[in-house]
Amino acid sequence: MNAEEDLRAQLAAVREELAAVRSQLDALTTARGLTMAGQVRCPGCGGRKLLHATKVLDRAHGGPKTLAVAREGAFFERSVGEFQVYICQGCGLVEWYVPDLSGLVADGETVRELDGTAPDPGGPYR
Ligand SMILES: [Zn+2]
Repeated sequence: MNAEEDLRAQLAAVREELAAVRSQLDALTTARGLTMAGQVRCPGCGGRKLLHATKVLDRAHGGPKTLAVAREGAFFERSVGEFQVYICQGCGLVEWYVPDLSGLVADGETVRELDGTAPDPGGPYR
């Protein structure tokens, strides 16, 4: 094999490796469910043992309540947007969820809606 053939072979190998890396990158950037809940894997340490807390308690007048985004109702107060968490047993990383969005309203003040599909308004503040 002469020097030119050797370079061509090396170039072909690099192109092949680049294509493989590109496809892995595409798979990573388009993948959904890269969450602790979706993969049962911690993105921080790679740990596979998690805890799922279906309620998160909050201190409040009259005893502990479930931590939520909001409360509504004057006499019969009701939590809206209760939190659940996934906790990595290896490193303690926490992922928060609000599985039930019913009653949760984006009022523009305490709850703002962000729409990643909308055209970029151009500013750094959303
Ligand atoms: Zn972890």
